Amino acid sequence: MNRIGLYPGSFDPVTYGHIDIVGRALHVFDTVVLAVANNPFKHTMFTAEERIAMLRESTRGMDGVEVTSFAGLTVEYARELGAVAIIRGLRAMSDFEYEFQMALTNRVLAPEIEIIYMMPQQPYTFVSSTMTKELALFDGDIEQFVPACVAKKLREKTADRKADRKNLHP
Ligand code: ADP
Repeated sequence: MNRIGLYPGSFDPVTYGHIDIVGRALHVFDTVVLAVANNPFKHTMFTAEERIAMLRESTRGMDGVEVTSFAGLTVEYARELGAVAIIRGLRAMSDFEYEFQMALTNRVLAPEIEIIYMMPQQPYTFVSSTMTKELALFDGDIEQFVPACVAKKLREKTADRKADRKNLHP
C-alpha cells in the first residue's frame, strides 16, 4: 500500500522549516508529494519552475519524496493524486487562524481527505520564506535558514533586484 500525503505550498523559496516537516511526514506516509501551488493571484519572487528546482535539489536523497506543481484547488489535486491527507506546517499561533479556516473549508469540499498539521523543531518555528527573502535583500546571513542551493538563488535574485533599483535611483 502506498499512502500518499500531499504537502502543498508556495515554497517561495523552500526553507529548513519546510524540510523539517517533510522529514516528519515521511514517518507517516510512504510518499510525500511536495506540490508548488501555481497561484496567479499570488506574487512570488521565484517562478514555479525555479521553486520546483530548488525543492528537488533540497530534498535529493530523501526517499519517498516527489516534487510537482498544481493550479486550482488543493483538494482537487489531492483527489487526483489519490492522497489520503494534506500536510501543513504550524509554526506559531499566528499560523493558526488562517490554517483553521482553510482546514475547515477543505473539509467541507472534501470530507474524505484528512488535513494533518505538524510542528517543526523549535529553531525553525520562526523561519519563513518571507523573512529569508528580506534577509537576503539586506545581505543577512541566510545559510542557517535555507539549504545552500537556495541561498545561492536568493543571492542571485536579490542582486538582480538591487541592480534594477540602482538603475532607477542612481
Ligand atoms: P502557503 O502560501 O501555502 O502558506 P508556504 O510555503 O508559506 O505556502 O507554507 C507552506 C506550508 O508550510 C504552510 O502550512 C506553512 O505553515 C508551512 N511552513 C512554512 N514555514 C514553516 C516552518 N518554518 N516550519 C514549519 N512549517 C512551515
